[in-house]
Amino acid sequence: MMASWTLFTFDRTEYRIDVTFVILFGWLVVSALVFAGVGPAINTAVFVAIVFGSVFLHELGHLFAAKAFDVRTTSVTLHFFGGVASFARQPQTWTAENLISFAGPAVNLAIALVLLALVGDLSYEAIRLKFLGLRLGIVDDIIYVNLFLGLFNLLPALPFDGGRILRGLLAPRIGMRNGTLIPGYLGVLVGGYFVLSGLFRLDTFVAILGAFIALSAWNWVQWAQGIANRPGGGGGRPRP
Ligand SMILES: [Zn+2]
Repeated sequence: MMASWTLFTFDRTEYRIDVTFVILFGWLVVSALVFAGVGPAINTAVFVAIVFGSVFLHELGHLFAAKAFDVRTTSVTLHFFGGVASFARQPQTWTAENLISFAGPAVNLAIALVLLALVGDLSYEAIRLKFLGLRLGIVDDIIYVNLFLGLFNLLPALPFDGGRILRGLLAPRIGMRNGTLIPGYLGVLVGGYFVLSGLFRLDTFVAILGAFIALSAWNWVQWAQGIANRPGGGGGRPRP
């Protein structure tokens, strides 16, 4: 595991930031400053802060849902590809596991929908400008970042929250092993797709992200292959 720093500890939960997060977003801001000037660097820093805050609130969604089921969160760590919450123990039922998994994306979708209802601009012109890559302001950024985080994390593939939910729905029916293997292999496919599309478009970030997804999904597959096909309770690994 790479280095991470504890920012603060609250209610016996450590809030940590991973070195990958600092390197990637530090590099984005510094390169904007060097190649484009102070204005673009500030815009980039604001955007990074929005991503940071949205990922953090996503993790708090998991944390509070876990608390409701009497599961303590030992740490919340922000990586460049998102956050990971670690728990003191597994929830006792698949329903609890599924609700804890859903709570993170639900926070992001709720933020996006509330802001959309209040101030969002869903006009054709606004969406067209967004696709042209023109910035529309901080509130629109918050809406788009949260919509993206909410929907992306609901992909029914491990290691995403949606993959955990699919696993939580399948495992009681077809067993822990097969119930984990299906979303695990889907995660390997999703990661592989990102690696290939990143390479084709010469987009290093997407390719690296894809490699992380595929590797993490492959860990799940390996873990599942090592267990007997028992119906069992929620098991395994930290949650993105
Ligand atoms: Zn999550």
